Amino acid sequence: MADNNSPPGSVEEKVDQIVEANPLVKDDTSLETIVRRFQDSMSEAKTHKFWETQPVGQFKDIGDTSLPEGPIEPATPLSEVKQEPYNLPSVYEWTTCDMNSDDMCSEVYNLLKNNYVEDDENMFRFNYSKEFLRWALRPPGYYQSWHIGVRAKTSKKLVAFISGVPARIRVRDEVVKMAEINFLCVHKKLRSKRLAPVMIKEVTRRVHLENIWQAAYTAGVILPTPITTCQYWHRSLNPKKLIDVGFSRLGARMTMSRTIKLYKLPDAPITPGFRKMEPRDVPAVTRLLRNYLSQFGVATDFDENDVEHWLLPREDVVDSYLVESPETHDVTDFCSFYTLPSTILGNPNYTTLKAAYSYYNVATQTSFLQLMNDALIVSKQKGFDVFNALDVMHNESFLKELKFGPGDGQLHYYLYNYRLKTMAVSTFPSWSSRKKFPVVKRYSFRNIRFGLCSVRASGGGSSGSESCVAVREDFADEEDFVKAGGSEILFVQMQQNKDMDEQSKLVDKLPPISIGDGALDLVVIGCGPAGLALAAESAKLGLKVGLIGPDLPFTNNYGVWEDEFNDLGLQKCIEHVWRDTLVYLDDDNPITIGRAYGRVSRRLLHEELLRRCVESGVSYLSSKVDSITEASDGLRLVACDDNNVIPCRLATVASGAASGKLLQYEVGGPRVCVQTAYGVEVEVENSPYDPEQMVFMDYRDYTNEKVRSLEAEYPTFLYAMPMTKTRLFFEETCLASKDVMPFDLLKKKLMLRLDTLGIRILKTYEEEWSYIPVGGSLPNTEQKNLAFGAAASMVHPATGYSVVRSLSEAPKYASVIAEILEQETQTTSFTKQINSNISRQAWDTLWPPERKRQRAFFLFGLALIVQFDTEGIRSFFRTFFRLPKWMWQGFLGSTLTSGDLVLFALYMFVISPNNLRKGLINHLISDPTGATMIKTYLKV
Ligand SMILES: Cc1cc2nc3c(=O)[nH]c(=O)nc-3n(C[C@H](O)[C@H](O)[C@H](O)COP(=O)(O)OP(=O)(O)OC[C@H]3O[C@@H](n4cnc5c(N)ncnc54)[C@H](O)[C@@H]3O)c2cc1C
Repeated sequence: MADNNSPPGSVEEKVDQIVEANPLVKDDTSLETIVRRFQDSMSEAKTHKFWETQPVGQFKDIGDTSLPEGPIEPATPLSEVKQEPYNLPSVYEWTTCDMNSDDMCSEVYNLLKNNYVEDDENMFRFNYSKEFLRWALRPPGYYQSWHIGVRAKTSKKLVAFISGVPARIRVRDEVVKMAEINFLCVHKKLRSKRLAPVMIKEVTRRVHLENIWQAAYTAGVILPTPITTCQYWHRSLNPKKLIDVGFSRLGARMTMSRTIKLYKLPDAPITPGFRKMEPRDVPAVTRLLRNYLSQFGVATDFDENDVEHWLLPREDVVDSYLVESPETHDVTDFCSFYTLPSTILGNPNYTTLKAAYSYYNVATQTSFLQLMNDALIVSKQKGFDVFNALDVMHNESFLKELKFGPGDGQLHYYLYNYRLKTMAVSTFPSWSSRKKFPVVKRYSFRNIRFGLCSVRASGGGSSGSESCVAVREDFADEEDFVKAGGSEILFVQMQQNKDMDEQSKLVDKLPPISIGDGALDLVVIGCGPAGLALAAESAKLGLKVGLIGPDLPFTNNYGVWEDEFNDLGLQKCIEHVWRDTLVYLDDDNPITIGRAYGRVSRRLLHEELLRRCVESGVSYLSSKVDSITEASDGLRLVACDDNNVIPCRLATVASGAASGKLLQYEVGGPRVCVQTAYGVEVEVENSPYDPEQMVFMDYRDYTNEKVRSLEAEYPTFLYAMPMTKTRLFFEETCLASKDVMPFDLLKKKLMLRLDTLGIRILKTYEEEWSYIPVGGSLPNTEQKNLAFGAAASMVHPATGYSVVRSLSEAPKYASVIAEILEQETQTTSFTKQINSNISRQAWDTLWPPERKRQRAFFLFGLALIVQFDTEGIRSFFRTFFRLPKWMWQGFLGSTLTSGDLVLFALYMFVISPNNLRKGLINHLISDPTGATMIKTYLKV
C-alpha cells in the first residue's frame, strides 16, 4: 500500500515504520493479535529496535530512577498534524460510523459478531450486543470522528472498524486526557489487504487532531513496558454447560453432580440493604468510587457524568448493585459487572455463552467476600454461565475463596507516551478491563513459563533463551543473561524497582567522586550489600574509595540466622526475630532447628552500610559501569554510561550475579541453576502458623488434590515468616532448578497452598520476585579486576545465601586490597602496571583452596538436589535432619570445613534409605560435579 503522506518524524510516521516492518499485520483481527503476530513474526533485533523508537517505557530504562514520570514526547502543534485522512487501497473508502443510527450500529455489530476476537482454538467468538457497543463507544464527550469504518466502494459493505474513546486517567496526582483504542476488526476475507495498519494510523491522527497525545491499552504479550500485569479468573455459574461446551473441564475425581454442588450458590443475596443502583445513587456511588480509587496509582478519574454513563444499570450491558444501610440509608458498598456474551462456534446444542465481567467493586462496611458473593448470586439469577474477574485492585482477596479458577494467560497494561515508574502490581485498578477483550480463557492450565518468548527471536524454535537479542545487546553471553533473569527478567526488574521511598539516597549522603582529582585507589562497582560493605571497609583503612552504581534502595527481603548477624554487629538491623525455626516435611510434626532466625530491615541495613560509607569517606557516582579498561600507565579506567571515565588503581566488581560484561568467568564450569521464589506479605485470616516460630521450609502437600499439573512437577516449599497471627510473609520457593521455575507457577502454587491451609488473604502489602542464580562458574582468578559478593560467585550454591558471607568477609578482603596497593606503591613506581600476581592474592583470599573444596562439594549437592522430585527432596531432608545436630546445623550455617563435609557425606550415606543411597552413588559416578569434587579435593 502506497502511503507516503506522514510528516517525517511524526508519531504517524512511526506507525508507518511498524507497518512497513511487519508484513504479517495484514492478517490481523484485533489489536492484541496484531501485536502478538508482530512480535512473533519479527526477528528479535527488529522487535527491539521498533519498540526503541516508540514513546513508551523501555526495558533498559527500568532501573533508571533519573528519568522523569510523565509524557515521553511533547505534544506537537496541531498545525503539524496531518489534516487529510490516510490513503486506503483504491477499492475502499473511509466512513465515520454514527452509532446513534440503528442501521450503522447494526452494521458494526454484524461486522464484529462475525469477524472479531476468537479464542486460540476457535471455539468462542465475542458477541458484543448493539446496546453494549453504543454504551462502550458513546461515553461523555466522545468523538464520533473516532468511530472509523472502512467500506468497499462498490458494494458499500462495511469491511473494517476501529474506535477510540476519550478517558481521563489519573496517573498518581495528574489527570491525563487519553484515548482508549479498541474494536479493531477487519473482515475475515480481507485480511490480506493490509487495512489494519492504515486504520491504526488514521485513528492516531484523529486522536491527535483533538489535541490528545497519550493512550492506554492492554495486550496479552509483553512489550516495553507493562505498567502492570493481571490474570483472568473464572467462576462457574453453570458448570454443566461450561463443561459441555468445552469452556472448562471436569476436575480429576469429580463427577458432574459433585461439580454442580460445588458451584451452587444461595438463591438470593444475603447482605441486608443489597439492591440495584438507581439514578438517585449517582452522587453517593461517585463519592464511594473516587474515594476507593484514590489509593491506586493509576485509575480512571470518574465524575458523576461518567458514573451515570458507565455504572447506571443498562439491561444486558452493565449491572450495578449497592448496599444501602438499613439504619442510616447511607450507600456503603458497591459492586458491578458488565455483560459480554460469546458465540459458541460449531456446537450443536448451544449457541451463546453468557459471561459477566467484574467491573468496579467497593466494600467499606460489608466484607468484600460477602459483597462479591452477592454479585455472583445475582449474576446467577440473571442467567449468566460464568463470572470473570481480573486479579486487579483487591480482587485477589475473594477469588480463591469464591471458587474462581485461574485462566490461562495474562493481560498486560500499557500507557503510550507516558512514563511511569514501577509500582506494586497488586495496586492497580481495572481502568481498562471493561474494554479489553481477552480471548476467553479456559480452565486448563497452559505452560506460560516462557512469558518473554514473544520478544525472542523466532528462529531456532527451542525453548531455551539462546537467541534472545538481549543476550547479544546487553549481556556478555547466554549464562550472563540467565543470571540476569532470563525468561523471568521482567519480574527481576520489577523486584529491583520496587518503591522503597523511606530509604536514603546515596547521592544525598556521599560526596561526589571528583573527576580530575587524580586516580582513586579503589573503585567499587555496585551498591548492593557487598559493594557498600567493601567500599566502607576499604575506605576505613585509608584508601581513597569511589563507589559507582545506580542509586537504588534495597528491595529484597533478607532473612538471616540471628547469631550470624549479631556477630557482625548488625543486630540493630534485624526488624523481627523468631526464637526458633521449623521444617515440615510430609506431616504435621515439624523438625525444630533450634536456632533463632531474623528478618532484616532493608531500610536499617541500607542506612547502616551507608553510614559506614559516610564515616569512612567513600565518594560516589550514580551511574552504571560499561567497561573497565587498562591505561598505558597501568591505571584502571572505569567507563560509565553517563560518559564519565574514572581512573583508579584497582577496580572491584560487586554488581551482582550478572556481571559478565565486566568480569571473566572460568570456561567449562558447571551450568548455572536458579532459585526462584514468589513471596507476598499479607494480612490474613486463619493462619495456622505460630508467630513465635519461623518456618524455614514447609514441604507438605500444597494441595490435597493429587492432580498432575505443571507447577506440581517442580518441588517447592513454603518459607513463612509470621510477624503476627494475621500478618505474614509467605514465599513459595523452588530451591534450585536447571530450568527456572517461572514466577507465575510459583504464585499459583502459593495461592493453592494457602487455600489448602485455609488461609484467606485480606490484604496484600507487598509482592516479591526472588531470582537467585546458584552454582555456575567461579570468576577467572587470573584477571586483574577483582570481584566481590554475588559477582564473585559468593552465593552459596545449595541455599542461595550470600549476604552474611559478603558482610563478614568485607573487612578481610579490604585489608588484602590495602596491602596489595601498599606493596605496589613501595615496590614499583606508581605508573607501573599492577601485575596479575598481585590481584591473585586478593582472589586467593576470596577463593582459597579450602573454599573451593567446599564449593565443589556444594555444587555436587546442588546437581543432586535439582534431580529430585518432591518425594526425593523429602527423603533427602528426612535423612539430613537425622544427622547429628552440629552437622546439619553447620551445613545450613556454612560452618562445616571441607573435611567436615566429607564426614557429612559419609554419614548421610550410611543412614540413607537404599534408594537415596543408590542415587548418591549413581550421582557421584555419573555427574561431572562428582568428578570435579573429587579432583578439587585431591588437588590440595
Ligand atoms: C528477593 C531476594 C531475596 C533474597 N534473600 C536473600 C537472603 O535472605 N539472604 C541472602 O543471603 N541472600 C538473599 N538473596 C540473594 C541476594 O541476591 C544476594 O544475597 C545479595 O543481594 C547479593 O548482594 P550483592 O551486593 O553481591 O549484589 P546485589 O544485591 O545484586 O547488588 C548489585 C548492585 O550492583 C548494581 N549494578 C548492576 N550492574 C551494574 C553496573 N554495570 N554498574 C554499576 N552497578 C551495577 C545493581 O544495581 C545492584 O545495586 C536474595 C535475593 C533476592 C532477589
